[in-house]
Amino acid sequence: MIAELISVGTEILLGNIVNTNSAYLSEMCAMLGLSLYYQTVVGDNEKRLEETMRMAWERSDVIILTGGLGPTRDDLTKEVAARLLNRELKEDPHTRSRIESFLKAYRKNHAGSKITDNNWKQALVPAGAIVLDNENGTAPGLILEEGQKRMILLPGPPGEMIPLFRDKVFPYLRDKQPEVIYSQMVKICGIGESQVETEIQDLIKAQGNPTIAPYAKPGEVHLRITAKADSEKAAKKLTKPLLRELKARFGNHIYSTEEDKTLEEAVVELLKVKKMTLSLVESCTGGALAARIVNVPGASEVFGSGFVTYSNKAKRKHVLVKKSTLKTEGAVSEKAAREMAKGGRYVSGADVCVSVTGFAGPDGGTKEKPVGTVFVGCCIEGETEVCECHFQGSRESIRSQAVVYALTFLRTCMIEGLKKKEK
Ligand code: ATP
Repeated sequence: MIAELISVGTEILLGNIVNTNSAYLSEMCAMLGLSLYYQTVVGDNEKRLEETMRMAWERSDVIILTGGLGPTRDDLTKEVAARLLNRELKEDPHTRSRIESFLKAYRKNHAGSKITDNNWKQALVPAGAIVLDNENGTAPGLILEEGQKRMILLPGPPGEMIPLFRDKVFPYLRDKQPEVIYSQMVKICGIGESQVETEIQDLIKAQGNPTIAPYAKPGEVHLRITAKADSEKAAKKLTKPLLRELKARFGNHIYSTEEDKTLEEAVVELLKVKKMTLSLVESCTGGALAARIVNVPGASEVFGSGFVTYSNKAKRKHVLVKKSTLKTEGAVSEKAAREMAKGGRYVSGADVCVSVTGFAGPDGGTKEKPVGTVFVGCCIEGETEVCECHFQGSRESIRSQAVVYALTFLRTCMIEGLKKKEK
């Protein structure tokens, strides 16, 4: 089946928001074994939206639209789709009562907000549409079927679109496929995208059924193996040799083969397996590393304390970094990172302590240690290792790269023991 994505919204065209919906949906199409041939971004303009939809309807079997389902006048997706497919728009009582309850609950928490008349526009549904209840907002998802073709309309906010797609559209599309699709995820950390791609060039060239597709994520690379067969068992069997091959090539760099497991979950799991407790001492990441760890339910079993020691004074006072170290080497140095990790472990009593100190920019940095220089330390049961990293990009990007690197470094130190880790 040929699939096509249309992202609706002038703010995407203007670059005010990044089109994360299309990145997510592209990956989901690959997972469903759909051939995604086209993606378009179109503004909130009736004529251009209709042209785009008409062309998509002619050339594709599954068209997924996101955005433009809201209550305002420039939200046109549903109206244009109904006109194109000659469907009348009618109020759906079920959707109206859901919108009513949703808005009543919203008003309870937002004193002074009113239910305005345009909200009921969202209860209008094209005749014959399959209505997908939206648990996180007021605009329902809609599926319009005609013969073997289908147009799927989803709200723009990712917090609404992703659960709707995952829970309702994905199973719907999977059931329409003539063959069973089985998809296997392989999540890699600690190696860059280009290196991963180079190391699997031969596999990509030789791919057939199954296929293999790399996806770059911040500080990680995900590889998706997808196979088609008559049964799930047969499709799964087809993915096995490729999975074995990837495990042989990437070894410990693979932190998970589970679809939903995150790097922080893998780290917390490893700490639990090793029965180790963790503490953190952060400077340039300002608590972002601790925030990743506490994303994981049950992290309190292994994570007791995190220190944000941003100033030199805080580094000395809370984690016992030596005055002389800060004076001679500076707060962004191998020695400071080492003392932060050691001191953090000592004062917290944890088994492991990870420290992060660096220049996130845009100011700061020196000739020897330019902006992007980050030292990550790891102290395990008295032994300490420090790695010097050089990241590029904005302040935000450098800080988030440092967080992912610290998680990766901690994981590697726990698996391989402390020896010099290269970056
Ligand atoms: P709403 O009811 O919130 O108006 P909608 O379905 O009309 O929803 P839009 O108005 O087009 O959707 O977009 C609402 C918000 O959703 C945008 O401001 C943006 O934050 C987010 N959004 C929309 N499209 C995308 C996209 N393709 N990628 C990422 N975010 C998006």
